[in-house]
Amino acid sequence: MAVDKISILVVEDEPAIAELVVFTLRSAGWNPVVVRNVADAWEFLQKNAPQLILLDWMLPDQTGLRLLARVRAERQWNGLPVIMLTAKSMEEDKIAGFDHGADDYITKPFSPRELTARINAMLRRKSPEHGQSVMAIDTVMLDPLSCSVSIGGQKIEIGHAEYKLLKFFMAHPERAFSRSQLLDKVWGDHAVIEERTVDVHVLRLRKVMKEAQHLIKTVRSVGYMLTEK
Ligand code: CA
Repeated sequence: MAVDKISILVVEDEPAIAELVVFTLRSAGWNPVVVRNVADAWEFLQKNAPQLILLDWMLPDQTGLRLLARVRAERQWNGLPVIMLTAKSMEEDKIAGFDHGADDYITKPFSPRELTARINAMLRRKSPEHGQSVMAIDTVMLDPLSCSVSIGGQKIEIGHAEYKLLKFFMAHPERAFSRSQLLDKVWGDHAVIEERTVDVHVLRLRKVMKEAQHLIKTVRSVGYMLTEK
């Protein structure tokens, strides 16, 4: 089953570093897109919705901080995790980065393992449904690495949309979501599907969950939630 890879925008002008970053991110199962300056990064963001930005500080046209400030000024990207990746290691530079809204800071030279670990931690913190660790609730176990779901130890067949929906619910248990929130969070801002489509997928999800289907509850006049209660 194909599952959307996490897309990461890498803004880096040094080819050798960009290459190492791309190799590292691909090895971790993510989908990196490299641009070499602030203008190209901005253009990319007009048409795409990456889940994270790795941002170099010194870039040919403007500083990474300028891009960071522009990103933070846009409501739609307010919560987008940004990790600064830079040779600047002075304390005051770090403070400037955080002042502009950077979420984390990695100083070059960095180890690929550290980069992967920092990104994983950030994705888990910012959007648990994008994390790579196994999630378990009641008898349901979801493994993001193999994109598989098992119930009571039995692997089940599950469609792409239902998998994404279940993963989102498991990342946010005991919280009710409206249909439009689910559309937005699970299918993304650009989805052109109707709210009742959510009902169809919830129905299908419950069907494949069999004896565990009671976990997905309908919350009257709100929407749906995953709850053990
Ligand atoms: Ca640079």
